[in-house]
Amino acid sequence: MHYTAPVSSSQLSSRLSLAKQKLLDELKAGGISDECVLEAIASIPREAFVAKPFVQDSYENRALPIGEGQTISQPYVVALMTHAADVQSHHKVLEIGTGSGYQAAILCKLVRRLFTIERFDSLRLKAEKLLHSIGIFNFSSKTGDGSKGWAEQAPFDRIIVTAASPTVPPSLLEQLANSGILIIPVGEPDGEQKLMRYTKKTDGSIAEYCLGPVRFVPLVGEEGAADKNIVSNGGNGR
Ligand code: SAH
Repeated sequence: MHYTAPVSSSQLSSRLSLAKQKLLDELKAGGISDECVLEAIASIPREAFVAKPFVQDSYENRALPIGEGQTISQPYVVALMTHAADVQSHHKVLEIGTGSGYQAAILCKLVRRLFTIERFDSLRLKAEKLLHSIGIFNFSSKTGDGSKGWAEQAPFDRIIVTAASPTVPPSLLEQLANSGILIIPVGEPDGEQKLMRYTKKTDGSIAEYCLGPVRFVPLVGEEGAADKNIVSNGGNGR
């Protein structure tokens, strides 16, 4: 870690607000044109979701450690996934991989209700507490294997998976509503991964679209995952 001179809290907050504006400009320049998504990103303090030593880097456009060898996703990827999911205010949405709760916070600003699943209880509880502390309550969370979805709450208008799976877990496609959209990074843990969008048409068929290359921590679960026995990838900043 690099050494940085101590800064006062007012210096820090003005630096963070400048960095946030710069990030929002970068997101726009990178093609995120959806004003609602940009407003949601502007309204959530990313610094509250990153580990303390990384607070100064909160608005850098990169993934940062959150504990348990996991990472908070890069802001551009959060924006891209949210934009590609085309979420609407009446939607019921499922997120797999709560992590820090940052993507969950953005989604909660945009949709009616979010259901979010995390495999680490420690991360889920921390995220839940944090979301409540910033006034976000329109969600339910549980600890478990999200590759199986949340059958009791299905169908979902949108499903967003924030960890990479070699294949698409069948339960997630089953739990999509008609015209529903699933956003998921597909690929091997250390290999090529592509961010995919699957749309369930009214006749039940699935249309797929590739949004581009990405790098995510692995989805560790029974469905779709490469190795059910992987415990952690050691957190290498993806
Ligand atoms: N959305 C998060 C990104 C977290 S990284 C954020 O905004 O911070 C991906 C998360 O997926 C990790 O926390 C990891 O523990 C979790 N994960 C991996 N496999 C999972 C599974 N099968 N079920 C639920 N969560 C899983």
